[in-house]
Amino acid sequence: MMIPVRCFTCGNVVGEHWDEFKARAREGDENPAKVLDELGVERHCCRRMMVSHKDLVDVVAPYQ
Ligand SMILES: [Zn+2]
Repeated sequence: MMIPVRCFTCGNVVGEHWDEFKARAREGDENPAKVLDELGVERHCCRRMMVSHKDLVDVVAPYQ
């Protein structure tokens, strides 16, 4: 499942970070907040894009 390329709120590009975020925070065992800090996703609106997307995947995944 793909994430929108840009943050809906500020237009910052977040899609390029999604693969690494997913690998480290979702499939790995790292703290999502720490991964976002290291990726340079510092605005709350952009972080919300990544974190809420993760939650959505968890909700949808059992039905795929
Ligand atoms: Zn943003």
